[in-house]
Amino acid sequence: MRRKIVVGNWKMNKNYWQAVELIESLLAYTETRDLKGLEVLIAPAYPFLHYAYQSTKDTKVQVVAQDISAYESGAYTGEVSADMIRSTGVQTVIIGHSERRKYHGEGAQLLGEKIDSALANHLEVIYCMGETLAARRAKAQFEVAKKQLMDVLRPLNRDQMQQICIAYEPVWAIGTGETATAEQAQEMHRYIRQLIADRFDPETAARVPLLYGGSLRPENAALLCAQPDVDGGLMGGAALRAEQFIGVIEAWLTQIPSPAKRGCRSSPGMD
Ligand code: PEP
Repeated sequence: MRRKIVVGNWKMNKNYWQAVELIESLLAYTETRDLKGLEVLIAPAYPFLHYAYQSTKDTKVQVVAQDISAYESGAYTGEVSADMIRSTGVQTVIIGHSERRKYHGEGAQLLGEKIDSALANHLEVIYCMGETLAARRAKAQFEVAKKQLMDVLRPLNRDQMQQICIAYEPVWAIGTGETATAEQAQEMHRYIRQLIADRFDPETAARVPLLYGGSLRPENAALLCAQPDVDGGLMGGAALRAEQFIGVIEAWLTQIPSPAKRGCRSSPGMD
């Protein structure tokens, strides 16, 4: 079975005390809940990464960074390197979020360098991609997806590809309350998996987790995650309130068969 992953991207929200409160609520929930192998990730702002990592160590919640610098080290005021992130204990980073592309002008060249730096520092990457409303209206969404994906994935080898998750986040659905339909999400995810199969091979493509992002809420999560090529979700707004985030996790759990129904043997100590 492919990994199933739910990620909460906090963006530039939550001060230290609010971060502590939200993490405590999530830990109280996950401690007693059988997550059936669903991975729960949160992406707080840089200043709280070390605290978040330490307070979730040995729990079912994992911490990821929202971005990294393409530079390894040096005179780059305000930048945070992959090595710095890795030294906090955090093992995953989001790269290519549409807000980085839009507000910071990040494009293929820079994003490729960030991915190289992440992989060289043993960080797993959640690579975000997705078309704008104008591109969707022009029916150019597949062309955009191919370019955004292939520009950064083409230079990678198969082993490196194992360290990548893809988050399809149509820009028109991020923070707008507008969600892609389950059919639109599945259609794009299938296309992305085919692109990966064409570039690498079908086995590699079958292993890559493909997450959907864009106004994911408890109300729409069940339908989206029921799609065969949707392996998880990346959310912004809903991740800022424990009950909403938990609602999305619960929706996802309804779609994951229990080990008995999957015909797997349960082993002690596993979810
Ligand atoms: C995001 O920022 O990646 C995102 C999906 O945000 P929202 O859930 O608020 O649309």
